[in-house]
Amino acid sequence: MSLISSELLEILRCTVCKESLTENEADSMLDCPNGHRYEVSDGIPNMLPPE
Ligand SMILES: [Zn+2]
Repeated sequence: MSLISSELLEILRCTVCKESLTENEADSMLDCPNGHRYEVSDGIPNMLPPE
C-alpha cells in the first residue's frame, strides 16, 4: 500500500531543490535526497516548502 500513486510520485519534485522524491511509508512522508520532507495526508502530499 503506497502513499500516493506511482504516476503522481513520478511527477512530483522537491520544491526546494527539484530532486525526485521517495515514499517513506512508515512516516507518511515523501523524502527528498537532500533531507526535505513532505507530509502526505489521505493520499494528498503537502508540497509547501518545509521550514
Ligand atoms: Zn529537497
